[in-house]
Amino acid sequence: MKALIYTGPGMPSWTDAPQPEILDDTDAVVRVDAVTICGTDLHILKGDVPEVTRGRILGHEAVGRVTEVGAAVRTIAPGDRILVSCISACGSCRYCRDGQYGQCLGGGGWILGHRIDGTQAEYVRVPFADNSTYRLPEGVSDEEMVMLADILPTSYEVGILAAGVRPGDTVAIIGAGPIGLAAIMTARLYSPKHVIVIDIADSRLEAALKFGADTVINADRQSVRGLVAQMTDGLGADVAIEAVGTPATFEQAVQLVRAGGRVANVGVHGAPATLHLEDIWGKNLTITTGLVDTHATPTLIDLVANRQIDVAPMITHRFSLDDFEDAYRVFSTPGDTGALKVVLTRHH
Ligand SMILES: [Zn+2]
Ligand SMILES: [Zn+2]
Repeated sequence: MKALIYTGPGMPSWTDAPQPEILDDTDAVVRVDAVTICGTDLHILKGDVPEVTRGRILGHEAVGRVTEVGAAVRTIAPGDRILVSCISACGSCRYCRDGQYGQCLGGGGWILGHRIDGTQAEYVRVPFADNSTYRLPEGVSDEEMVMLADILPTSYEVGILAAGVRPGDTVAIIGAGPIGLAAIMTARLYSPKHVIVIDIADSRLEAALKFGADTVINADRQSVRGLVAQMTDGLGADVAIEAVGTPATFEQAVQLVRAGGRVANVGVHGAPATLHLEDIWGKNLTITTGLVDTHATPTLIDLVANRQIDVAPMITHRFSLDDFEDAYRVFSTPGDTGALKVVLTRHH
């Protein structure tokens, strides 16, 4: 088969790889029908994720058909159309028993395209298949569902649910990339009073308006704190969601919330940020961090199937699997290409 192989920092290569096989009796092998590229894959290509070694097949998001299952797999069978989640779950460790699959101690967690070969391939082996895949209903497309492998549950669980967004809240979302846009969409489920989105790229702020932001602020040209204060009678936002992953945007998120406010960090950070306790020690803030668990994936599948959220507009570019290297080029230069999410399919 063909697969997208990490060859060290720089562009990966779409090339021949061995066909995956069942190794454990809880495995499934899945034919990949739709797959996407994540911002995390770009971090890997920069060499920021040292556990990923040369020769690794990348990718942790896919929709496909089961071709083979191990003897212990009970809930899926060959021919089933399934979502392969970015998080695998052993199902029996103390974290899995608590629904915190991202922290799995039994060999799961984020392993696909990280510690084992991933989904950017014609076929993928999925460990702990019963707990790491979801059978898909009729009436939803492969490309919609692949948005639910990582970005939607990440924004929803680590952003909206962790921050406890409530009706009437003013929600400030910092960063209008795919994660920020998914946060707008899922914040809207809770009837917030305002969804304010902050970025420095006008094209992304325009996208934020289409996804349901009612106010956008360009942080290069406008006073973020001033405008948020104006909209909240000087109090600050009820909730701030950090969806960038830099020290400056984290510190801004903490500054933007009112006393008693909640800050949810979703961004992946590579450098220390300063927590200004001298300013906030008495402000009753809640600050949360997290890796997605994907416990909300069944809910999100229902929301898409019932047309309560529309994830299709996140997809700006489509490719066939054979054009994987082009897809990486487009996805890694969003300033030039306007790319939000790219989807690659078997039959394009
Ligand atoms: Zn990802
Ligand atoms: Zn586990």
